[in-house]
Amino acid sequence: MVYAALSVQAAGLININLRMILRAAYLALREKQMPVIDAARADAIQVIETLQQRYTPGVKEPDSEFSKEFFKKMTAGIGLPDNFEAEYQSNLLDVKKRMFSRYENPTWFMLVSQFSERIEKALDKQAPDKKRKKILFGTLHTGRINGVAIGTKNPEYYVILLESGLFGFANLLAKGVAQAFPQGEKKSDGSFSISTKMDKVKQNIQADDDIATRLVDLVMAYIVAGDPHAARPYLPKKEYVALISIWRDAMEYFVLAHEYGHAVSGHLEASPATATSEGNEIPSSWKEEFEADYVGLVTTLNILMEDRLSPSLTYAGVEAFFLGLELIERALAVFQGREIREHGTASHPPAMMRREAMRHWLRQGLPEQESKSAIQLADIFQEVIELIWPRLEATLREGQRRGAQIHPMWTNY
Ligand SMILES: [Zn+2]
Repeated sequence: MVYAALSVQAAGLININLRMILRAAYLALREKQMPVIDAARADAIQVIETLQQRYTPGVKEPDSEFSKEFFKKMTAGIGLPDNFEAEYQSNLLDVKKRMFSRYENPTWFMLVSQFSERIEKALDKQAPDKKRKKILFGTLHTGRINGVAIGTKNPEYYVILLESGLFGFANLLAKGVAQAFPQGEKKSDGSFSISTKMDKVKQNIQADDDIATRLVDLVMAYIVAGDPHAARPYLPKKEYVALISIWRDAMEYFVLAHEYGHAVSGHLEASPATATSEGNEIPSSWKEEFEADYVGLVTTLNILMEDRLSPSLTYAGVEAFFLGLELIERALAVFQGREIREHGTASHPPAMMRREAMRHWLRQGLPEQESKSAIQLADIFQEVIELIWPRLEATLREGQRRGAQIHPMWTNY
């Protein structure tokens, strides 16, 4: 019964939160002028749509049926007032006129537009004199969870494409990891602190079976069904809603700002010899990955600091992205019966090395106490993942015995 009461309270809070987020995103997008479709822009859009057609044969424009289904999935168990859905659906019609690729999920587009706007503002502040090409973004169902920035012969635009399940994965990962932290003392205003003592977190994970179950379920959903949202939906405890959104935002900003990092660092200027009419997917060298990570890190922490959120809290969210990458890599390795690629791939350094580089920049850029707390928190995130790994591994092997297959999208991985 206690759990039910909590769920209802949590639903109320998420309800308000979700309405606010969607409204704000819509209003921000409506503020923007309607785009003028010139030849360069049309060409960049064509690049996105062509790739989407290639990766998802038979891809369709999302119609009102799709939007209704998506709304249902997004708000499962929350219970929003009817008039909100009607308003939301009519807003989407407006959003669709402003989308880049016509195949995009309008809700995703609306939310990511807000992220990209803040990233662009932050980049302008960080390097005011730098001239940049404009960026169009979209999703691709690739199984390449790093996202990809594409240089084209286009004189005005770059294209950034993110794995279509990535934001869903980030959201559910933040939700799962946050709830591994036990509640600390409750303050008189009703807010509470989380306990960041490693042994308390361990005890919490051992005592509450749901924590591991949900994280395992998430990874299984992503690698077997190809969709993180195939995981069983659940409402977070209301005390965690704020934390979850902080860590989710940190991850999502980082992923997108990393790709912007490739664009602003000149990695996408394809040499004529390798450029193709489709656009040239640059196999980035490790050095370029580190450069993009640096831009991603600084931009993310700066944006969240504008919201009065300290890196000692937000940084762990950035590392959570890498922990997520490692989890997927380890899970796929078990399924494919191969060694874990601890040494990275031709295009990307191993996640562990990227995390080490981040910590180095953090120590250089922040006061000692702040970087120390940030890293301590990130260490606990890592420990959480280690603690649930045996359970995930057992589930993977069991799934394999029963004939489960990894989703075909991961063959690109
Ligand atoms: Zn990259």
